[in-house]
Amino acid sequence: MTHRRPNIIFVMSDDHAAHAMSCYGSRVNQTPNLDRLANEGVRLDNCHCTNSICAPSRAVILTGLYSHRPGNGVLTLDDKFDGRQRNVAKLLQAGGYQTALFGKWHLGHGGHHDPTGFDDWAVLPGQGDYHDPTFLTPLGKVQRHGYVTDLITDDCLGWLEQRDPSRPFFLMYHHKAPHRPWLPDAKHASLYEEIDLPLPPSFDDDHSGQATAAKVARMTIEHDLNATDLKQEPPAGLSGRELAIWKYQRYLKDYLRCVASIDDNVGRLLDYLDAAGLREDTLVIYTSDQGFFLGDHGWYDKRFMYEESLRMPFVARYPREIPAGSSAAAICLNVDFAQTFLDYAGLPDPGDLDGCSLRAVLAGTAPDDWRSSLYYRYYMHLAHHYVYSHYGVRTARHKLSHYYEPEPGPREWELFDLHEDPLELRSVYDDPAYAAVRAALKAELQRLRASLDDQQNPPLD
Ligand code: CA
Repeated sequence: MTHRRPNIIFVMSDDHAAHAMSCYGSRVNQTPNLDRLANEGVRLDNCHCTNSICAPSRAVILTGLYSHRPGNGVLTLDDKFDGRQRNVAKLLQAGGYQTALFGKWHLGHGGHHDPTGFDDWAVLPGQGDYHDPTFLTPLGKVQRHGYVTDLITDDCLGWLEQRDPSRPFFLMYHHKAPHRPWLPDAKHASLYEEIDLPLPPSFDDDHSGQATAAKVARMTIEHDLNATDLKQEPPAGLSGRELAIWKYQRYLKDYLRCVASIDDNVGRLLDYLDAAGLREDTLVIYTSDQGFFLGDHGWYDKRFMYEESLRMPFVARYPREIPAGSSAAAICLNVDFAQTFLDYAGLPDPGDLDGCSLRAVLAGTAPDDWRSSLYYRYYMHLAHHYVYSHYGVRTARHKLSHYYEPEPGPREWELFDLHEDPLELRSVYDDPAYAAVRAALKAELQRLRASLDDQQNPPLD
């Protein structure tokens, strides 16, 4: 018996780190509805982004191409997406899918930058607002009353109600939360008020074991979170570690309150699918555009290739194919998502995409020759949080990264052994015991850069 092509619901939040989901072993919160997807489907334990920043990750997902490729063109937050380009929504739309996008877009708007490939859409301008947000639609701006996470969900549920049930659909359901400045709704405003959240194990990292880039980055809980982030001035007399801990509690509680609203709203969506009889025929994915530091290394924000920023949460349910309660360790990337959607939809592979379909990985049948390394590159040298541009390679066990800009420099390398040092506190790049590993990783980095045609940079050494 053949089944109809699956519906695809792609739920993506903004800056939601995997270690703030209970199905990933969170030490700080519970996410029962996101866990439903993991318990009834699969959890990817090595899903990563290729460029850990908002707009670039979104463009990678839409195009199935690395940031530097012609046909993507979004290397930094300042680059707008050219909607005349091919994107996966257009391919699905042309292939018979009903398509819609609601929520965060962040790839520019107006002219050639509005969403394309969607039958219906309503998106936030830029970062958008948490409360009473304005949405952009094909008919113009609409001011709405309410909390952004609820409103985006309302749009999705309303669209599902009015769709043509005779055709499959592709729905991109994109939350703004839990992006800075972390404004919760009234329902969750006092969550965690009576408790102290535990500190992450690398909270006191002094960056003595990492490159200069880590020492100079301006994303520390202690120094760089401001009164807008914290919604009040710190109590007088606090300084040093005491101040950092006070700020950490303020910051992370608001972040997790925003996550709690996402969890509730994903629960609404899953309940709707059950009630509408769509559970079996719908692939539901939950992910985020990248990870985030939750006090890890003493930081907030992302950008770096360190694990907390590189890693994306990814849980998926499709009862017809994906075994319930499974997990997969295969290295997966956001550049794989477009190819994956096309595969489920039974549409042809365009032939020039950089990713691989994750369908077999999600079903627990990844081929033996699945990729064993990934290529990463971050371009926004010194922007915002003063993070140096870098590129690198990660395998199941090791990570080699290179800060390649000479100024303010120095050009530097880091090498971490993720088995021996999972918190990435001590680079072993100069350790003679790692000479062979270092050489092999450099060769692999060269190979990846060549295969992806990203060699316009200075040579490796
Ligand atoms: Ca983001």
